[in-house]
Amino acid sequence: MRIVLLGAPGSGKGTQGEALARHFGVPHVSSGELFRDHIARGTDLGRLVAGYVRRGDLVPDDLVVSIVGDAVMRAAKDGGYVLDGFPRTLPQAERAFELARPAGLTADAAVYLAVPDDVARERLLARGGEGRVDDADRDVIERRLQVFHEETEPLLDFYRDRGILTTVDATPPPDEVTKAMLAAVSGRA
Ligand code: ADP
Repeated sequence: MRIVLLGAPGSGKGTQGEALARHFGVPHVSSGELFRDHIARGTDLGRLVAGYVRRGDLVPDDLVVSIVGDAVMRAAKDGGYVLDGFPRTLPQAERAFELARPAGLTADAAVYLAVPDDVARERLLARGGEGRVDDADRDVIERRLQVFHEETEPLLDFYRDRGILTTVDATPPPDEVTKAMLAAVSGRA
């Protein structure tokens, strides 16, 4: 099973991504986690991306594709993936599609975790103390929401046009959202 998760910061992509990946026995590939890991280890790559992540700006597409693209293709060849946080811009989605298409490894389903901005804001502020620098600052949270609406929301049409988009209400408790997602993607692959 190959699934792309879409949703605003605070929509629950991380939690739901783990649950789906466990259910299908495939890797959960989180671009944000990959970046935070590089930053924490102080790698060259971590130094390149740290400023963007701290400000809530997008990491440039070429850098993202070169880091995350490999992880995605490895997972795809190994049985599948749940992508969380990638693709996040139209150019990223187009590049990922081009990379995966020749091998027949494009996504089976794109799941949009829909939440109103107010709910996303509250959740991000609530987890703010838990160590992520980009969750600790209201301006950075606003910036990430704005970037989501401007850069990532257009992907909904991209996946709708491909006929694989499904939308799930992500405001209920996590277990309910997981059930709704599983119901929505069952039979896709
Ligand atoms: P959230 O969805 O809560 O914002 P993520 O962990 O997905 O959290 O992303 C954290 C940060 O990592 C983003 O604000 C951005 O700076 C960077 N990032 C993650 N994925 C991408 C991507 N696909 N393209 C560009 N930047 C990204």
